[in-house]
Parts: sequence; structure tokens; C-alpha cells
Amino acid sequence: MHELSIAQSIVDAVETRASECQATKVKSVRLRIGEANCIVTDSLTFCFEMLTSLEPLLSGAHLLIDFVPHQAWCDHCASEFPVQNFVAQCPTCAEWSNTIVSGTEFQILEMEIDAATNVAT
Ligand SMILES: [Zn+2]
Repeated sequence: MHELSIAQSIVDAVETRASECQATKVKSVRLRIGEANCIVTDSLTFCFEMLTSLEPLLSGAHLLIDFVPHQAWCDHCASEFPVQNFVAQCPTCAEWSNTIVSGTEFQILEMEIDAATNVAT
């Protein structure tokens, strides 16, 4: 279950950034996660909520996930197609593709915080 270690990394990163921003509360964290990372988002959310419940700064923070499908590009058909189980083979012409269009993303997009001073988040 690698979701727990991923959730821990996210919590650590968010906590560091929140401290830098002098946040008093983290209200939400938005992630972009590609399908190719094989992350079970329900499991990640569960781990995130468990870890944040132990941190006063992050307690009750919502985890928002933008899920990006795994897609590849076929040069032969000049079209995009979904990668099935890591097999990037075009369903139309059966050509193999080396061009992954999306699905490998993993980033913290944004976080919403309350700060002691009324600066913009
Ligand atoms: Zn094709």
C-alpha cells in the first residue's frame, strides 16, 4: 500500500509550505494525479485524512484530486487513444506508440489556507 507513504510525502510538503506562508489552517489541498501512477485515490484520501487528523494545522483539510487518464498518441492515425494496462498499442491500427500524452502527472496544484494576517492565499 504505497498510498500511505505518498500521503505522508504530501502532508510533509503541504506542512512545510503552510508554515512558510504562516498559515493557521490548511483547508484544502488539490492534487493532479495521472492514471499511470497506479494510485488508488480512495485509499490515498483515506491515508491523507488519517495523517492530517494528527496534525492541528492540517486537521479537517479536504483532499481534492484531479485524475488524469493515461493517453497515448498514434502517429499512424494521428489520434489519441487510451493506454490499457500500460500497453500503448493503438486500438485502430494496432501500431505501438512511444508518445505518452498524459497520465504520468503527479503534483500538488494548490492549497487553500487560513493565514494569521489577511494576505491572499
Ligand atoms: Zn493508430
